[in-house]
Amino acid sequence: MKKQLAVILGAAMSLCSGSVAAQDAMTRFIDELMGRMTLEEKLGQLNQQPSDEISTGPVVGSNASRLAAEGKLGSIFNIRDVEKIHALQKVAVEQSRLGIPILFGMDVIHGYQTIFPLPLGMACTWDMEAIREAAHIAAVEASANGVAWTFSPMVDIALDARWGRQAEGAGEDPYLGCQVAAAMVKGYQGDVFSPQGVGIMACVKHFALYGAAEAGLDYNTVDMSHLRMYNQYFPPYKAAVEAGAGSVMSSFNIVDGIPATANRWLLTDVLRRQWGFKGMVVTDYASIHEMTSHGLGSLKDNAARALLAGTDMDMCANGFIGTLQQSLEEGKVTMDDIDRACRHVLEAKYRLGLFTNPYRFGSKAQAAKVTYCEEHRAAARRITAESFVLLKNGTQDSPLLPLQPQGTIALIGPLIDTRTDITGSWSMAQDATRYTTLREGFQQALAGKATLLCAQGCNLIDNARTQEAVAHGHACEPIPFVDSDAALAEAIGIAQKADVIICAMGECAWMNGEGTSRSNLELYPPQRHLLAALAETGKPVVLLNFAGRATVLTWESQHVDAIMNVWYGSECADALCDVLFGRVSPSGRLTVSMPHASGQEPLYYNHLPTGRPVPDGTTDYRVWSPNYLDAVQGPLYPFGYGLTYSRFSYSDIRLSSTTMSADGSITAAITLTNTGEREATEVVQLYIHDKVASISRPVKELKDFQRVTLQAGESRDVEFHITADKLKFYNYDLDYVLEPGDFEVMVGPNSRDVKKTLIRVE
Ligand code: BGC
Repeated sequence: MKKQLAVILGAAMSLCSGSVAAQDAMTRFIDELMGRMTLEEKLGQLNQQPSDEISTGPVVGSNASRLAAEGKLGSIFNIRDVEKIHALQKVAVEQSRLGIPILFGMDVIHGYQTIFPLPLGMACTWDMEAIREAAHIAAVEASANGVAWTFSPMVDIALDARWGRQAEGAGEDPYLGCQVAAAMVKGYQGDVFSPQGVGIMACVKHFALYGAAEAGLDYNTVDMSHLRMYNQYFPPYKAAVEAGAGSVMSSFNIVDGIPATANRWLLTDVLRRQWGFKGMVVTDYASIHEMTSHGLGSLKDNAARALLAGTDMDMCANGFIGTLQQSLEEGKVTMDDIDRACRHVLEAKYRLGLFTNPYRFGSKAQAAKVTYCEEHRAAARRITAESFVLLKNGTQDSPLLPLQPQGTIALIGPLIDTRTDITGSWSMAQDATRYTTLREGFQQALAGKATLLCAQGCNLIDNARTQEAVAHGHACEPIPFVDSDAALAEAIGIAQKADVIICAMGECAWMNGEGTSRSNLELYPPQRHLLAALAETGKPVVLLNFAGRATVLTWESQHVDAIMNVWYGSECADALCDVLFGRVSPSGRLTVSMPHASGQEPLYYNHLPTGRPVPDGTTDYRVWSPNYLDAVQGPLYPFGYGLTYSRFSYSDIRLSSTTMSADGSITAAITLTNTGEREATEVVQLYIHDKVASISRPVKELKDFQRVTLQAGESRDVEFHITADKLKFYNYDLDYVLEPGDFEVMVGPNSRDVKKTLIRVE
């Protein structure tokens, strides 16, 4: 019988997988297969287990091999070794009654073994081709190592930097979020759904609104209007679905009081009916089980609710495999509900070609060839350099960077010697033995040119136990807990001998990502203390701020000469030398607003206007009410901000017309000039504000952008085409409309420093 399946499939897979004929062949195949499946086997397909190897949630023994042999394992995730993957696949294919292959997943979040900056840093490149390329490289390596499916991209809008998972998304903006979501889906999937194609299936997560957890506290309550969902939070998920993502992961949080895991409106009405999603929906880690803690009753009730809502696969909760049979007997779910979920899982496997060749993903030879190969490393080095965001660089007349590779350079800070933290959080397939530490990278870049002096200088945090213990849970070597006085004295000693001090500080790998909320976004006290002492030496200081979120750099902006935000990556050390020593000009731009003070969070540029302060101001105390008494209003560094080694000037905006009809268009152009002395890249940004509408509209919204590279002295016209799709929004009835009237058009280098003009839509 297994042979017969293969014959039908050979014919089916040779058809172009998107065609109607291919679709029919798939349906016939799955009908026939499901016709022979028992209830137990169907429930087995809905069951996903974690590996015993890498844990990303509360550990549950998976008994993978037994389940595979019994046909009760639809999917397993986070196995790193192709031989282990194929061995388990062999059990499923050869020992289970129907030989249905297993779908192997993994959290390939910002690279497999060649690791790119955190997704937040990748978004800071504003370079969609680079983002697509990085995702594809991740897919090439992961698929060679046996992985067919990644739980990425995370497209949750994250306005609150206290939430550690801001690191895993594109930041605060829906428009940029849509572009990044689509680029990542395309990069991962490549042409994986055609027979010889290369890629892995993407999984858009966490659907939905996970980034809006109250107080930035991971897993916390989410409560928001549908207007806000549709206008601000939903667009990136929708864009990822439209880009063809094969799967969606529901989120831990509640949506309208019901956990997303079992929210039928979300998973069926919005996702499938409104957006036309046809793929597979998986829960987040044990989230059916966690519904009990949300106060929604037993595992059995919640598994039934999740299935009825539209969930197809249960990640780690053992709710589907353990209780759905009973719910079926009790009439709480129907066979049609189970069949629907089973069909979605089997379709994903079919589209991935697993029935034709269960070992399609993974080859030892290919893995050896592509994993962390020179070509991938070169791409990662180039793209990592693109992600750094230069926030401060001396003064306009006397920039500190780029540095000359000469004299004596001090490299100081708790991150200079770590090999395991250099890639950042969610780097589970990393092979840290192959990566370069900052000290090694700098030594190599400066060999024969300058003297490099290094010191750890301080602890990451004040707490020895946490600093040493937490790292283990994240597969990181702990950064040594040192005697602070001795470390400080050593650092000051070498700083005094140096011409310039470079500090590598901030968050180590376990300080951002899941379950890493922070209430204070400033540099941790031991690090600030060291930085202050180094600044007092009077030597020029460069701060490399390692972060997975917006952090508070108010003190640093006043006391340190240059600041650059760094988002990790396996090639981080070399990329840093490329930029610091001037081989590459920085071109990253923030995709989150950086606050003056932690208490400003959530802080985002595209907020709604309020009635205060009144525009012309009086001294009445109420005038100040929307401002903080103890913090400067607005961001320290705004969304879109970033410096480079040159300067750019913007002309006023020129419009092709000041009025347009609803189906017309207007071109807004500026002339951009590189007025500095070096080639550099500018990210020219278009923002629009709807001045009068039927609902309150944001003060400005990003609607387009272009990365433009100009030689010193060169000028270029940059044009944006404004059409209805840049002006539409969801109105009170959730209809997507263009309302005629006046719109402010803004162009500039960031969300704060813009040129403005007006257009009218008639
Ligand atoms: C995370 C997901 C992740 C999953 C599997 C969960 O805890 O929220 O983002 O994909 O674990 O590792």
